[in-house]
This record gives sequence, structure tokens and C-alpha cells, in this order.
Amino acid sequence: MALRDAVYGAAVGDALGVPYEFKARGSFECTGMVGFTGFHFQPTGTWSDDTALLLATSASIKAKGGRVDVADIRLNFEDWYYDGEFAIDKNVFDVGNSTAGAITEGIGRSGVNSNGNGSLMRIAPLAYTDASDDVIREVSAITHAHEISCEACVQFVHILRNPALAQEVELPSSIDQVKSSGFVKHTFEAAIWCFTHTSNYRDCVLMAVNMGDDTDTTACVAGALAGEVYGYDAIPAEWLEVLRGKDIIERCLF
Ligand SMILES: [Mg+2]
Repeated sequence: MALRDAVYGAAVGDALGVPYEFKARGSFECTGMVGFTGFHFQPTGTWSDDTALLLATSASIKAKGGRVDVADIRLNFEDWYYDGEFAIDKNVFDVGNSTAGAITEGIGRSGVNSNGNGSLMRIAPLAYTDASDDVIREVSAITHAHEISCEACVQFVHILRNPALAQEVELPSSIDQVKSSGFVKHTFEAAIWCFTHTSNYRDCVLMAVNMGDDTDTTACVAGALAGEVYGYDAIPAEWLEVLRGKDIIERCLF
């Protein structure tokens, strides 16, 4: 199990989902990489803010020799937000409200209504460090400081470190009850649902995108877990071939 598997898994899931973000479940069917469609109208294989911030986190850990330095990660987030660092073509799009507010004001949002999935989507690299639960919470709190967001990040890092734990997550009894909005609890549940109800990378991320609504983030989170468990080689080659920004990914891995 390696960071590279999780990062490519996340990036491919994100890129699969970008064309369908905000679309209702059942109103479309994602079967592979497409481009120049949907709200964001990006070229095929373009991943979004999710992967850019995940890479910003990974790049900081790399620069610090494997250490999690919260202040340095925040600086990388600022470089992304203001200068397009870590983004494909330096094009920053799909930025969440809490993330934008936290970066511009320098303090993570702590209100109960600030529990979007903006920290869960970027937390995966911490699974490959010895970060304690408190450190995981601090990294969430750069943008999402409420305990619901912080605990979702802690739980997801634990699952990445020990994927068997995914089977112990309490989930709704039917897929109709699994929501896929931008609320962090929904994203977490939907991602775990897709992972535990499929048996390979392709099926997991396609199920995640086809849940609709916050398609890119659901597939990014599910994709990180599926990528790690099934490995880079299990990601369909035709998807990797058109994935953009592979140079950015490679320079951010530790
Ligand atoms: Mg996004």
C-alpha cells in the first residue's frame, strides 16, 4: 500500500467526476473519461480542487522530509488559491466556500454549517505518515475546524491505514439512502459504500460518480481508498493515459 496508488486513485476519480458535478443521480451515466461538458467544461482528464489540495498537502510533507507541518501546508494552500500552484494549467476552479474563506482569512471555519467535504477530500496523504489523530484534526482545521469534519478525516485516515476497518462503518441499508451531497458525512458514507459494494477500482469510482451531485469529491475519496487497495496497476490504462497533470502529481509524491 503506497501513497502513489492512493493519489492516482483519487486524481482519476476526481477527473471522472468533474464533468458531472451537480447533476442529479439517474440523470446521466458515467462510463469513462469525458471532457468539455458539464458545469466546469474542462478538457478530458482534468482533476479539480480536490486533487490540487491533496497534492499541496503531499508536497509539503515531502518538502519537510515526511513530517506534517500544519503551517507549511497552509502556505501551500495559499499558493494554490492565489497563484494556481498544484493546479492543472494553474487554473483554480470548483473552490468550496469554507476553503476560500479559511484561506483568505487565515482561520479554519468552525461552525456546524461549515462541514463540507473540503478537508476530507485532501487528507489522504496523512495516512502515509505517522501523524497522530490530533495532527490529523489540525490539518483538517486549516479549512474545516468543526469536529464533524475533523473526525471524518481521522476516521478516513484510519481506514486508509487499515482498509478492513471500512467493513465496520455503519452504513444506510439501501443505496437510495446514501446521499452524495457536499456534506462531509455524506461524502464519507458514499465513498465507503462504493468501496464496500464493489470489488475493483473501476466499478468503485464509476459507482461513486454515478451517485450524482458532488461527483468529483465522492469519486476522489472513494478513489483514494480503491487506488490504495487495488493498486495503481488496477486503474484502467485508458483513464491514466488521458489523465492530465501527471507531472504535478509525480513531483508532489513522497
Ligand atoms: Mg472538486
